[in-house]
Amino acid sequence: MKTYRIATIPGDGIGKEVVPAGQRVLEAIAARSDAFGFEFESFDWGGDYYREHGVMMPADGLDALRDKDAILFGSAGDPHIPDHVTLWGLRLKICQGFDQYANVRPTRILPGIDAPLKRCTPQDLDWVIVRENSEGEYAGVGGRAHQGHPIEVATDVSMMTRAGVERILRFAFRLAQSRPRKLLTVITKSNAQRHAMVMWDEIALQISKEFPDVHWDKELVDAATARMVNRPATLDTIVATNLHADILSDLAAALAGSLGIAPTANLDPERRYPSMFEPIHGSAFDIMGKGLANPVGTFWSAVMMLDHLGEHDAARRLMAAIERVTADASLHTGDLGGNATTVQVTDAVCALLASPANVATAQAA
Ligand code: NAD
Ligand code: MN
Repeated sequence: MKTYRIATIPGDGIGKEVVPAGQRVLEAIAARSDAFGFEFESFDWGGDYYREHGVMMPADGLDALRDKDAILFGSAGDPHIPDHVTLWGLRLKICQGFDQYANVRPTRILPGIDAPLKRCTPQDLDWVIVRENSEGEYAGVGGRAHQGHPIEVATDVSMMTRAGVERILRFAFRLAQSRPRKLLTVITKSNAQRHAMVMWDEIALQISKEFPDVHWDKELVDAATARMVNRPATLDTIVATNLHADILSDLAAALAGSLGIAPTANLDPERRYPSMFEPIHGSAFDIMGKGLANPVGTFWSAVMMLDHLGEHDAARRLMAAIERVTADASLHTGDLGGNATTVQVTDAVCALLASPANVATAQAA
């Protein structure tokens, strides 16, 4: 029997609620499998750790994660610590330290979810956004000088490398090729950003020649927001820079009904390092500590984790259980207009995983 070694990092806010919920459903799925199990190790890094030690995670923290098979992450963000400290001190440290350059964000309207686009059927919206996750606008290049003086200056330089752009576009073309529609939209802004984004466009054309069976087009990022709302069915796989995809994927999550549902995978496609799976939402200060967080984004992230580990059958079973639960409005949390608690939703998913009927359904599907 294979044992996967999983690091869990709940982090801050509702991360502390949804990550244990995610661990519970993974344990429930392993309990029914003779083929694999999990060995979890939890790390208490984040805002509380920062208050005690002055850093979000220890200096040698990456070494503790290095030989894990995957990482399940909650959120970094504390009401009393500046956001750039929490983000750079934990989540980005792991993403960049482990060169998780491909951030993959699927979006679908799950059964039972009331999504805001009135002219859109659930079948019209089935996207995967691929976000460049290692450089670009979030490269961390820049600086400040003359602080506090009238001549104060600050820069954030968007840095794009040919190697970085080639590898993310190649990843996106390959992902598009693996999906039924074989359709890729490359997001750009080369009209205004006339250096790096022009190179991005040139490299897109170059890589496209390796994938003659993939249909692809280009869209300016501002126009892409309107297209997502007005013509969602014209999109399938979408690739964009770090900043552009960050924004587009929050829009995608909202169009699918709630930020609380959306999952993401931070992948090292070469598998030199562990990849990291997390809901796309943050710490949700307004509801933290109340047991009201929607755990579905974490559960769907766990599905992505299972797929990454090669446990495709378990991934399918978990996704089927999630969709059965979202279809039942009495199991909707507050973000979906319901009254259910994190524990009720988690119990319901675990109960379905324990029932042989659900296993049969997933296998038939
Ligand atoms: P947020 O995602 O925390 O919350 C936005 C809104 O969505 C809130 O009203 C919240 O209650 C709701 N929401 C989010 N997830 C939910 C869930 N699972 N169930 C129910 N409702 C949910 O975004 P924000 O308010 O912009 O950020 C709060 C903090 O989180 C900040 O410190 C920010 O830096 C951090 N953050 C971290 C990450 C990350 O670690 N990946 C991502 C986004 C934000
Ligand atoms: Mn974001």
